[in-house]
Amino acid sequence: MLSTIDLRGRALGVRELRHLLPRAEFDVAAAVETVRPICEDVRRRGAAALYELGERFDGVRPTRLRVPGTVLASALATLDPQVRAALDEAIRRVRIVHEDQRRSTTTTTVVPGGEVSERWIPVDRVGLYVPGGRAVYPSSVVMNVVPAQIAGVGSLAVASPPQRDNVGEFTGYPHPTVLAACALLGVDEVYAVGGAQAVAAFAFGFEDVSDADGGTAVTCEPVSLVTGPGNIYVAAAKRYLKGVIGIDSEAGPTEIAILADDTAVAAHVSADLISQAEHDPQAASVLVTASVALADAVRADLEDRVAGTKHSERVREALSGPQSGVVLVDDLEAGLAVVNAYAAEHLEIQVADAAAVSERVRNAGAIFVGPHSPVSLGDYVAGSNHVLPTGGCACHSSGLAVQSFLRGVHVVSYTEAALKEVAHHVVTLAQAEDLPAHGEAVQVRFDGS
Ligand code: NAD
Repeated sequence: MLSTIDLRGRALGVRELRHLLPRAEFDVAAAVETVRPICEDVRRRGAAALYELGERFDGVRPTRLRVPGTVLASALATLDPQVRAALDEAIRRVRIVHEDQRRSTTTTTVVPGGEVSERWIPVDRVGLYVPGGRAVYPSSVVMNVVPAQIAGVGSLAVASPPQRDNVGEFTGYPHPTVLAACALLGVDEVYAVGGAQAVAAFAFGFEDVSDADGGTAVTCEPVSLVTGPGNIYVAAAKRYLKGVIGIDSEAGPTEIAILADDTAVAAHVSADLISQAEHDPQAASVLVTASVALADAVRADLEDRVAGTKHSERVREALSGPQSGVVLVDDLEAGLAVVNAYAAEHLEIQVADAAAVSERVRNAGAIFVGPHSPVSLGDYVAGSNHVLPTGGCACHSSGLAVQSFLRGVHVVSYTEAALKEVAHHVVTLAQAEDLPAHGEAVQVRFDGS
């Protein structure tokens, strides 16, 4: 478990670091080839393809693609009170943080009579993906829905894979806790569709004539934006369909990088590496340290801890994969260069003066500072969002936020006098670009004046 990449004594630039740091062999680009036929099948055959793909990939044919309202209500009514209390608290904290992300219109007076405003307009309709393969993620319902609602998105649909182990009225639908979380947040449009096919279903929309209550087929209208986390196939479908839809980021298989020194507690580092490895055999757990003693202590702790954890097989696979490892560096400076080049989804800073060091991080989906801010806290109830960019995308993308659901639109308003004042510059630049009709469109307004 955890191979070693020894970078000590080597002065490396970003290009070399990116080449040497641990990454999965089966990446999003490779998975696009797998999801292309799935997405095209959904585009061509709609609902019929979605029923078949559910049976093939989730091991159960959805009872109906759209979950009936009665089933959502029942999931909420039968939700374990302790889980409900935890979800309520997660919702409360995520709301507090995301309320602070609201954007308001700004207006700039460029010159007297010449104004440019920026108006933030929510997308009309979003599709929110909630994973449900190896684990189920009611927490992702919260992380998707809360910012979308605060942004003011008018139409909101959730998709999550049907669960083969569901029984009774939940048979052929997503996990009851996922359904309950949707009901708790007032979401009533929920689909029993998972993976790449869910992203395609949102992108193209579909009509389910087999679900024709009283003769009216169920229609899922296409969405403008798909957000949410998922495995490599979900991330690949987002990449493949980007353009048809907008996406938040490629929020694929989880990654944790921990920058640690001798002050870190090996058991904490080891437990945190395992906590993210249990998501997926493709999850990445990376320790970056200059301390050989810490690296040895973490390895020793991992042996026992991995053996004792519930999903030990999956964890072992993730920790042994090429995407995980211990990166040995000369010092903290070199460690910072490594974590900035790696751009992890989650970055923990477990070093002396962690707060000051964290301010020097430039590339990470989210940063967890000091010994009492583990990633698991952020997964559920820190108030932060857990839908975060992976695969190095943190160097250009942000985690899910209210902003993800908004578009900033410039509104330009000039008076005649303000336009006249600057008309000659428009004409000059238009001529310089050999686009004289641009200048004429301004001049025509002043012909004869
Ligand atoms: P999932 O819902 O993402 O994936 C399940 C779906 O994968 C299935 O419905 C199926 O359609 C599809 N699938 C499975 N095998 C396939 C194959 N061979 N070909 C094509 N499609 C296939 O659930 P999961 O698998 O449990 O994964 C959840 C993922 O979400 C994990 O990788 C976890 O690390 C990740 N995650 C990421 C973030 C983030 O913000 N980056 C947050 C939470 C979870």
